[in-house]
Amino acid sequence: MRKRAIVSAVSAAGLLLAIPASAADAGPGAPGIGDPYYPSYGNGGYDVSHYDLRLKYQPATDELEGTATLLATATQGLTRFNLDFALDVSEVRVNGRIAKFATSGEQELEITPATPLAKGQQATVVVRYSGVPGKVKRYGFTSWQRTPDGGVAANEPESAWWWFPSNDHPLDKATFDVSVLVPDGSAAISNGVLVSQTSKIGWTRYNWRQNKPQATYLATLAVGKFDITRNTTANGLPVINAYSKDLGDNDGAARASIERTGEIIDWESGFFGPYPFSAAGGYAPNVPTHYAVETQGRVFYSPAQFAAGANPSVVVHELAHQWWGDSVSVAHWSDIWLNEGFASYAQWLWSEHEGEGTAQELADWVYGQHPADDPFWTVKPGDPGAENQFDAAVYDRGALAIQALRNKIGDTAFFALLKAWPAQHQYGNGSITEFQKLAEKISGKKLGPLFETWLFTASKPAAPSAAPKAAAPKAAAPTVEPKSWKQIAATHTVHDR
Ligand SMILES: [Zn+2]
Repeated sequence: MRKRAIVSAVSAAGLLLAIPASAADAGPGAPGIGDPYYPSYGNGGYDVSHYDLRLKYQPATDELEGTATLLATATQGLTRFNLDFALDVSEVRVNGRIAKFATSGEQELEITPATPLAKGQQATVVVRYSGVPGKVKRYGFTSWQRTPDGGVAANEPESAWWWFPSNDHPLDKATFDVSVLVPDGSAAISNGVLVSQTSKIGWTRYNWRQNKPQATYLATLAVGKFDITRNTTANGLPVINAYSKDLGDNDGAARASIERTGEIIDWESGFFGPYPFSAAGGYAPNVPTHYAVETQGRVFYSPAQFAAGANPSVVVHELAHQWWGDSVSVAHWSDIWLNEGFASYAQWLWSEHEGEGTAQELADWVYGQHPADDPFWTVKPGDPGAENQFDAAVYDRGALAIQALRNKIGDTAFFALLKAWPAQHQYGNGSITEFQKLAEKISGKKLGPLFETWLFTASKPAAPSAAPKAAAPKAAAPTVEPKSWKQIAATHTVHDR
């Protein structure tokens, strides 16, 4: 978590005597973690290490209720601190004692503990809450999708507010236990390993555990009627997939794609190093949307991804994110190229693997598709702005930039870099600046002009290489995700900038 200025709230000598000396310099934590695109997202003054979510969900009415227990450490003296949340809170306790709370802005929950927290002090924060998440809108939208048999939380960058209170920014990762009680016959799907599933008095409890650090937006919850499949890879990695029992004609193609998760992880491990998590898999709920999200260790897929038949390419994309985005997360949302550029480039590598066009051929094809006056080139993948965070250019021009980098430093350095970055920043965060430094270190080349041209210039770069012009490949890698994300982004019109 980034350090920030402490605003002293204590000046009266009388008050100084009344609170512990260690908290004498305490003040309120900042209401945002300092993201340039989303200043109010995340919070300052503490670091969460674990979320325990014990929930109950009624699919018929969309009622969600429960208790979130956060284990946190104060990184400054705190008279008050914020969480990000949108449902109704009935009680907050900090270290066992009732705490005052208030709401402000779109998603700020301000908590005032009975006694200030000293810098370095551990805090257990218990929040009791309830709500109908499908009816709760923030910035004019909800990230909780209702389905005929339940509901789903999967979106980016806002997803957590509709189902648990958090420090909602990738800079503060934590482990998760998600325990959800649902009526018998329904299932609850979340991240990580399914530790247990028990039933009594008409309700079934699903206990999921994510034992590796996870960004809050990568936590997911789905309740509905699912068929759950379980397998194990040759390395012993559990693969748990789930399919809505209501996928209709898309059911076969969804399974023919998502059931290849283990195979694709094995293939991607050859490029990016060992798979970083304790379980893998994906799920397809019966939602009407078109996008997929790389929710950690359990990818969310909209059934529309499979409307034209099997789509292993989207599985490749979302599983590449397990290294590029999930294990190594953006330091700020402006670093989104590190997620989407590399997940898109993985699709080009898969195309080559499948004999459907090499990465160079696809790069040349994308480059040729967009004339110099195409607005496509006005989006800078290295700093696209919040409104263009999921624009097609971040994906396609972002992948072009990676091909240009590969041509500049050569295959030996390039493929070493693809393994070194996930290893160097595993379970943490990274920025484009740090990535450039590592690329320069591994290649021994100065790369400032190349990064400037491909990531930070709002115009069409000169052709990246003298690679021979290839015929159009048999099948270009599908890019359905960026289009759908553009639709999502279009609803986000009132974000703080
Ligand atoms: Zn992506």
